[in-house]
Amino acid sequence: MVLECKRCLYDSNHPLGLVIDEEGVCSGCRIHEEKNSLDWSQRFKKLKKITNSYKSKTAKYDCIVPVSGGKDSYFIIDMVKNKLGMKPLLVSYNKMFNSKEGIDNIANLRIKFDCDFIQKNVNPSILKKITRKTLYKYGNPYWHCIAGETVFPVQMAVQLKIPLIIWGAHQGLEQVGMFSHTDEVEMTRRYRQDHDLFGIEVNDISDTYDDLDEHDLMNFLYPPFTDIEDIGVRGIYLGNYVRWDPYAQHLQMVKKFNFKGKKLSRTFDCYDYCDSLLYSDLHDLLKYFKHGYSKVTDHVCREIRFHRISRDQGKKIIDFYAQQQPRNIDIFCKWLDINEKALQLILNNHRNKSYWKEVTQNKWIKRKRVLVPTKTPPSLKYPNVALKAHSDNNYTTVGKGVNWPKDVSKQIRKWL
Ligand SMILES: [Zn+2]
Repeated sequence: MVLECKRCLYDSNHPLGLVIDEEGVCSGCRIHEEKNSLDWSQRFKKLKKITNSYKSKTAKYDCIVPVSGGKDSYFIIDMVKNKLGMKPLLVSYNKMFNSKEGIDNIANLRIKFDCDFIQKNVNPSILKKITRKTLYKYGNPYWHCIAGETVFPVQMAVQLKIPLIIWGAHQGLEQVGMFSHTDEVEMTRRYRQDHDLFGIEVNDISDTYDDLDEHDLMNFLYPPFTDIEDIGVRGIYLGNYVRWDPYAQHLQMVKKFNFKGKKLSRTFDCYDYCDSLLYSDLHDLLKYFKHGYSKVTDHVCREIRFHRISRDQGKKIIDFYAQQQPRNIDIFCKWLDINEKALQLILNNHRNKSYWKEVTQNKWIKRKRVLVPTKTPPSLKYPNVALKAHSDNNYTTVGKGVNWPKDVSKQIRKWL
């Protein structure tokens, strides 16, 4: 039987695993209560103790910080460099489906934080082969992005012998309360494989019948256990030591460092995945088809827990956004060289029949009743100044690391 949490809008079918207790409250909401009960100044001292032990007078870097043009990157670097006084090396995996805002955010952070920065750029033809395979087989066009951004920092830690990696929040803790903050859970290969990648590892992508070989996939291989042990690589999550509140953090970063957002079609949160033209569009639609809910539900549950929206408001927000058409499908099809009809067939093949019913050929309805609000329901306010409208007609795959005047930067993008 599927149980629904009486506080937020998750139910017991959540793919990360969620438990509803005898009072009808889910494990995610229970762990969220810790945000208001833990002594965060004490926890920050604990964090300082850990990071201080990695400070080096001789080494060029004290730690690695994985960054992107969206999410919490600005907040994490600000914390690591300015509040903890570390010398971070910033590393970034180029996810390819970049929005212009994402590229601008990366260029801006390189200037504002004045840190060394290394980016991994896997050649586009391999990424296309992988994307074709993971889309067709698993209904997941975003696999290389998650696989790349979770493994590249570990590869760099091993290669450059920098044992400490500092991540933002732990997704399993934040969404479903998989751990308590006080467990101080750290990065593991197992969690990456089971939850970040939903069990799909490099070996599953490669097989003898297609043209993806082990050399193509080496970029996504986790370093050997012995190398990690020898160097003592560990990855800690700031969310265990700092009261994590993405909405408040985003607004702070907009004000302090001019972090930019992007209006997205399928969720109201303009900052989380503002760097991608795929995540909140095609990828999110597939999440809706496979799991019966989409990213907006994650954002709504987060905001209900912080008491910034009510449960009823949350339902209206979800019903509105979950029905919005994804944008940028044409860009994706052009990039992958498939036609939109073929894509539609692939998408329908990955619909989970417990959430979707085919009423006539290629016409599907959701089994659960869906409200149809007539206009955008009230939601959280974001400063408009950060939401400049760009027109996208291509992925911005590579960006310049300097703030050129707008007209020059436009010209450079054309050249690229
Ligand atoms: Zn809940």
